[in-house]
Amino acid sequence: MKSKMEETMLALVYKGPGEKAWERVPSPKLQHPTDVIVRIDTTTICGSDLHILKGDVPAVKKGRILGHEGVGTITEVGASVATLAVGDKVILSCIKSCGRCSFCKLGLFAHCLGEEGAVGIGWVFGHLIDGTQAEYVRVPYAENSVYKLPKGVTSQQGVLLSDILPTGFEIGVQYGQTKPGDVVAVIGAGPVGLAVIMTAGLYGASKIISIDQDPHRVEEARKFGATDSIDSSKADWRAKVMALTDGWGVDVAVEAVGLPATFEMATRIVRPGGHVANVGVHGKPVELRLQDLWIHNITISMGLVNTNTTPMLLRLIAEGRLDVDKFVSHHFKLDDMLAANDTYGRAAETKALKVIIEA
Ligand code: NAD
Ligand code: ZN
Ligand code: ZN
Repeated sequence: MKSKMEETMLALVYKGPGEKAWERVPSPKLQHPTDVIVRIDTTTICGSDLHILKGDVPAVKKGRILGHEGVGTITEVGASVATLAVGDKVILSCIKSCGRCSFCKLGLFAHCLGEEGAVGIGWVFGHLIDGTQAEYVRVPYAENSVYKLPKGVTSQQGVLLSDILPTGFEIGVQYGQTKPGDVVAVIGAGPVGLAVIMTAGLYGASKIISIDQDPHRVEEARKFGATDSIDSSKADWRAKVMALTDGWGVDVAVEAVGLPATFEMATRIVRPGGHVANVGVHGKPVELRLQDLWIHNITISMGLVNTNTTPMLLRLIAEGRLDVDKFVSHHFKLDDMLAANDTYGRAAETKALKVIIEA
């Protein structure tokens, strides 16, 4: 039997647009035989959490525990869980995956047909079911949705695999069909854009151009593998990008902001036959200049991360081939959740990238 204290836990609860509370709530319980309960050791905050807090994601209802990134220790396992045990330290993916449905079999976990949260939507934590910014979390379809943390990989490194690294690599680099020798431009140098920059080298990009309206961020991007930095608040930004190519534009233009203006920027720097990979989450329609683009044989891709490259990225981190610690700008204790949110929410002033929150 759990003691009275363990019946409740602390969690960051969404209270409606602009409102949140770090408060005591009932601890999660196993609901299905495929669930595990995880005690959170490390969590972090994503730009999407800020969107939710602003009220931009109406699917998130009042009372929802936020957060979709985490590393923790398993404290309870469901009856059918065979490959995980109490005490295992695991990385939680931001995307659920039942491992059995037709989309999961294609590696399209983002559209898992499992009923947890909603059929066909992979992102459920901190969105459609309670999330990871808490002392404990219930993890559905655990055997296919968590990854054991190998020896030598820290919780801080592991939590960067919950979302940003697979997102940058899958939706930016892979969907952009990056090839050896390509010139890749990445618009937006937040954590996700920097994850694109860090992983574009894996497919042999010859130049990686970081573009952002914040000159500090594009200079910082060099530490993540950018070869060139362009301040897009300057009128000649496009001419500067074109001058870094053969004159026809970049092979791959990645949008990692989520605004009509930045999507438009990507379509204006891509070469004929090139790729525009949209990673940003958009809240408004964008104008697609098909009348100009059709004759340039442009491919445009977009998507929600599948997290099916997590095991590969984890191997690279374990072998010291991806120095992901440089994403971390601040550390907080779990009890300082509200301070962590405040720091992350004022990133332009505080220079926050990923804020690591530890139990
Ligand atoms: P962020 O807000 O931390 O960074 C965005 C960057 O864009 C900032 O550096 C900002 O200075 C820059 N920027 C803003 N307006 C600009 C403009 N007009 N011109 C040039 N630069 C501009 O965001 P992030 O956490 O790095 O996430 C980036 C995007 O990726 C967000 O839209 C996020 O929701 C999305 N995302 C998508 C997925 C997916 O599965 N597709 C997953 C996670 C995050
Ligand atoms: Zn996220
Ligand atoms: Zn599935």
